[in-house]
Amino acid sequence: MRRYLVAGNWKMNLGPAAGLELAAGVAARLRGRVLRGDALVCPPYVTIPAVAAAADGNPLLLGAQNCGDQDGGAFTGEVSPAMLKEAGVQYVIIAHSERRQYQREDDDLFVRKINLLHACGLKAIFCYGELLGERKAGREREIVNAQLEGVLPRLQYVDPYNTVLAYEPVWAIGTGETASPAQAQEMHAWSRQVVARLLGESPASHMRILYGGSCKASNAHELFSQPDVDGGLIGGASLKVDDFVGIIDGAEAALG
Ligand code: PEP
Repeated sequence: MRRYLVAGNWKMNLGPAAGLELAAGVAARLRGRVLRGDALVCPPYVTIPAVAAAADGNPLLLGAQNCGDQDGGAFTGEVSPAMLKEAGVQYVIIAHSERRQYQREDDDLFVRKINLLHACGLKAIFCYGELLGERKAGREREIVNAQLEGVLPRLQYVDPYNTVLAYEPVWAIGTGETASPAQAQEMHAWSRQVVARLLGESPASHMRILYGGSCKASNAHELFSQPDVDGGLIGGASLKVDDFVGIIDGAEAALG
């Protein structure tokens, strides 16, 4: 019912030349295949045009890792959603834990960014998830509830096709420690219940919820086989052709 999404978050890695090489490598491996889901790469801003050229004509979608919260004007260093759209971007990652932590981004900002993205026809990948201390204290459900509640009901145009959720337990991001399939399923099912309460049963059943946190080719199949896990947001393992394509293969295999 829900198409999987495997999304690569390249973070602050790969300028135009290296990004083109990686994207071309992935595109070559996907060429001619009809995927039963979506594969997406989110390079740094300056690498987007090079990757757009490589992705053209291939089943590889293009995303960005961030956007500004204004239409345009005197906002030095910012990039608007409309500019990203013009560059070929379809998805934008919002609220990644690294931006929550290092840029101190908050719910008000996430709401402004997502409303703007939606208004110009782009899709948001909204990230959320608990810290290690919060999990150790048994507060993961409470934290996830608060993070979803702080943003979803305030979105003007939200629907299950313009919004993807990404549950990313912060203790699993870049640490090599992955949530077990059972832990991921439990939190995804909980997230879906929260979305049902906030937006309704039908949006909740159609909205994709990705897992993020040390996902790799060797664990993708099992994670993505969980009934409420609709793919992954991939950091480190999206930087190598074999690893990223292996995760896409895991998503295909999970469909049976
Ligand atoms: C991420 O940054 O969203 C992420 C999941 O990273 P990694 O796969 O490296 O843990």
